[in-house]
Formats: sequence, structure tokens, C-alpha cells
Amino acid sequence: MSAIEREIWLDGSLVPWEACSVHVLSQSLQRGSLVFDVMPCVWHDEHPRVFGLREHVDRFLRSADLNGMSLEHDRDALVAAIGRTLAANPGAELVKISAYHAGISLDVLPPTARPSVAIAAFAAADIVAPETLARFHSRPARLQIAEPIKMPATVLSPQVKIAAGYTHAAVAKQRARESDFDDVLFLDERGRVAESSTQSFFLVAEGLLRTAPTDTVLDGITRRCVIELILDEGMGLKEAPIPRELLDGASEAFLTGTSTNVWGVSRIDTLELPEPVPGPLTARLAERLQRLLDGDDPVFSPRWMQEPR
Ligand code: PMP
Repeated sequence: MSAIEREIWLDGSLVPWEACSVHVLSQSLQRGSLVFDVMPCVWHDEHPRVFGLREHVDRFLRSADLNGMSLEHDRDALVAAIGRTLAANPGAELVKISAYHAGISLDVLPPTARPSVAIAAFAAADIVAPETLARFHSRPARLQIAEPIKMPATVLSPQVKIAAGYTHAAVAKQRARESDFDDVLFLDERGRVAESSTQSFFLVAEGLLRTAPTDTVLDGITRRCVIELILDEGMGLKEAPIPRELLDGASEAFLTGTSTNVWGVSRIDTLELPEPVPGPLTARLAERLQRLLDGDDPVFSPRWMQEPR
């Protein structure tokens, strides 16, 4: 792939993409202490609108706080920095914000300097080849119940988006991919259904939409938005632990997240979900979310598609 002609905001300055690198011995690389957040950006009449911008920035600040990082920038400063980064990167579809210790440490503890903050804004096609991109989410999701359980909240808060927290998910997802699944579905330490590697999980069972509570899963921003849409549609929702046995009677299931919006699930382990996939509720919510992202929902677009300033 040719050189990426994008600029990254790094601690207050815009630097060329290739110049934004860290030493192999940096504490964050060696100990997995980088925290991050990712948000989708849609351009309406050449103006960037970021889905749940303030919600994502707040979650990023919370991740940093839970990781004991004290950042130099507050929410307003980060929103302004995101605006500056997008202005320098027209057509960007994703904004990824990271805080990390670039310094070298002999100890497990980070070096004393404040962490760096980097904001990258790019299009998926900048970093992924077109044929790979075309394969992404081209079929309904097939999920394998992961062999390791989700990292218990008593070990790592599900609200901290930290690099080290994803090694577990990456290994499980790699195994799932080798068995022709798209992703994993994690169970919590009590055997109840939690979420996938990087997406929230919803189920329709006994006529009711269900999703796991945020004491065991990430408070997904798409999850929050979809919950608002579910309530607006007058569909019933139960935010409560999901016993594994409920999967057997499910009429629909779907994932939500920044990268996939609403993604219908056709299979969970050996269980085939009823046709059609996506089912009626999933299709309706996917359509509502797409309309919102396109700026065409008079109530929800102004609330969720936020100007970066
Ligand atoms: N769960 C996990 C573990 C995730 O990493 C993500 C991606 N941030 C999600 C769910 C979906 O969250 P969001 O809707 O904010 O992308």
C-alpha cells in the first residue's frame, strides 16, 4: 500500500502519519498500557460530524482515569483537537484517539512524564486493501462462544479501553476465525452472555430485546444510541444478565459497534438463528441507525452527529 498521506495530532501539533512512531522499549508497547477510543465520522456537505463525539471523548477520559493516567487535556480541548485533526484529513471516516507512555521504563510502572495523546483520522481504505474491505461484514455474523470467559470486572473494568485488555479477545477471535466464525461471543464468569470481542450483543427472546448490563460489558456508544432507538420505536428492552439458555429460543440477535453499526447474527456456535437474517427488529434498527448517521433523522441526527468544535 502506498504511503499514507494523513496527518496525526500529537500533543498539540500535526505531524505526518509516518513520523508518529514510538520506541520499541516504550512502556505502553511493553506493558500494553495505551488507552484509546474510536469514533465514526460522516461528512455532511463537506462538514465532519462525529457520531457521539462528546460521549466518546468522555469515555476516553474515563479509560485514562481508570488506568491511572493524568492527561493534560480536558474534554473541550480534546474536542477542539479532533476538529483540527479532521480539518487536516478530509474524507476521514474514523477518528482514533490514544493516550500512551512513549517513555522507556525499567519497571512495570510507567515513566513519570505525562502520557502522550495522539489523534488519527483516516478512512478504512487508507489502511486496508479493497479486497479485504469488501469481505468485512459481507455476510451475517457467525459467532463462536469463546472458550476463555470475558475478563472478569474484578480483574479489569469492562469500561477501560486499554490495549492489554484486548489481547485476550484477539487470541479468542483468531481461533474463531480459524473455524470459519467471524467473531466470538464471550460469557461472563457466571456463564451468562456478555458481548463479542469489540461489539455489544443484543438478542430478541420471548418477544423482548435484551442486552447485558454495563457492570459486565462495555458501555458501548452505539449500544446507548440503539437503546434510544429501541425505546423510540416502542420495542420492549430488558437490560439484564442474559442466561445462556435464552440463546436457544432467540428469534433474532445482532451486534452493535462503531465499525459495524447493527450487524445481524445468523449463527451462535452450533445454533442457527431463524431466517431471515437480519430479522425484522434488527433490520428496522439498522435502518434507523443508518438514517441517523446520514443526518436524515430530524430528532436523533442533531443529538448524535456532533460538530467537532
Ligand atoms: N464492546 C467492546 C469490548 C468494545 O471494544 C467495543 C468497541 N468500542 C464495543 C463493545 C462497542 O462499543 P461502541 O459502540 O462504542 O463502538
